[in-house]
Amino acid sequence: MRFYYLKGYTYNELKNLIKNILTKDNSNLNENFFDYRVDQVFNWIYKKYEENIDNFSNLSKNFREFLKNSFKMNSLEIYDIKFSKYNDSIKFLFKTEDNEYIESVLMKHPDRYTVCLSTQVGCNVRCVFCASGINGVKRNLELSEIIDQFFLIQKFIYLKENKRVSNIVYMGMGEPLFNYENLIKSLEIFTHDKAFNISNRNITVSTSGVVDKIYSLADEKFKVKLAISLHSPFEHKRQKLIPLAKKYTIQQILKAVEYYFLKTKKRITIEYILLKGITDTPEDAKELVNLLKNYNFKVFINLIPYNSIGEVYLDSILLEQSDMESINRFYEYVKKYFEVNVRWSLGRDINAACGQLRRNILNTRVN
Ligand code: SAH
Ligand code: SF4
Repeated sequence: MRFYYLKGYTYNELKNLIKNILTKDNSNLNENFFDYRVDQVFNWIYKKYEENIDNFSNLSKNFREFLKNSFKMNSLEIYDIKFSKYNDSIKFLFKTEDNEYIESVLMKHPDRYTVCLSTQVGCNVRCVFCASGINGVKRNLELSEIIDQFFLIQKFIYLKENKRVSNIVYMGMGEPLFNYENLIKSLEIFTHDKAFNISNRNITVSTSGVVDKIYSLADEKFKVKLAISLHSPFEHKRQKLIPLAKKYTIQQILKAVEYYFLKTKKRITIEYILLKGITDTPEDAKELVNLLKNYNFKVFINLIPYNSIGEVYLDSILLEQSDMESINRFYEYVKKYFEVNVRWSLGRDINAACGQLRRNILNTRVN
C-alpha cells in the first residue's frame, strides 16, 4: 500500500487491518476487542479531532505504540488560508506529501456550514471555463486526502467558532466519478455514525456526466444528492464547452439521471453556467426547458454566473460573465417551469471558483 494513513481506511477496513496485524502475535483476541478499539480510534479522530496518537488517553500504551508504528496521521498540510472579506467563505490550499496542491472551500450560510471538496489533482475533463482542467489531471486523490480536507477544515472551524460542518459538496477540483472507489469510501466515512455522521441528504456529488458511474452510484446504499453539470442543452455547444461530452450524449446522461432519480427519489440539481452570448440567450433558456421536460426526474436548476479565470476564448468569443439583464431574463423564463436559483459563488474576492487558487500557485512557483 502506498500510504499508510490512519484516515485512509473505512471502519471495516481499519478493523480488518488491525486484526490481521495483531492476531499474528495473539490469536486469543476476539471480535469485540477489535470493534472496541476501532470505536475508540474513530472517536478520537472523528469526534474529538485529535491528531496526536499519544493523546488517545483511553487506549493502552502498547496499543498507542502499535498505532504510532503502523500509521501516519495527516496526509495534507494546510499551506494557505484565505478569508473572504464578505465573511461568507474561507478557502484552504493544502499541500500533499508529493508536493501537489489541492483546494477546498468552507462556505458559511446562516443556517449551515458546507465544505466543498476536491477529488483529483487537476481534471482531465478540461471544461473551457474551468481553472482545474487547464493542465489536465495529475492523479486521483487518496482516500486519506479526501477525508483530510474535511477533517482539517472541520477542526479549524471547531476551534475557531465551535461549529460543526453539516454539508458536503463534491464540487472542487476534479471529476469525482473518475475517482469512484475513493469517492464511495469517503461517503462511507462521512456518513458513518462513529465518524462524521453527516446525513446523506446533506451530501451532493457533482459530475460532468460519467454515465456508467451514475448508474453505479444509483445502486450504492448512500443515496446522496446528484448534480449534473449540463451547461448547454445543445449537443454541439456542450461538446465545445466540455470536451469529455463527446464521449456521452446529453440523452445518455439524462437517461442515467432518470435511473438515479428512480433509485434515490432525490431531486436532481442541473448546473448551468451563464457565459455571455454563449449560454445565456433566450434560445438557450427555451431549449433547456424543452429538453428537461422530456425526462422523468424532479429538477432543480442552479444558474452559475461565470467566474472569470483570465483571458479564455471559445471560437474567438471571449468568455465573460453574463450581464444582469441576461441573467434575470434567463432566470425568469426558466422559473415558469422549474425550481431555479442563481448561484453567485461565495468568496469571489478570494478566487473561490474551483482550481483558481492552485492555478495561482502553479503560475508563481519557481520550480
Ligand atoms: N467536475 C465536477 C465537479 C467539480 S466542478 C463537475 O464538473 O460537475 C463543479 C462546478 O464548478 C461545475 O458545475 C462548474 O460549472 C463550476 N465551475 C468551474 N469553473 C467555474 C468558473 N470559472 N466559474 C463558475 N463556475 C465554475
Ligand atoms: Fe473538471 Fe468539473 Fe472543472 Fe470541468 S468543471 S474541468 S469537470 S472540475
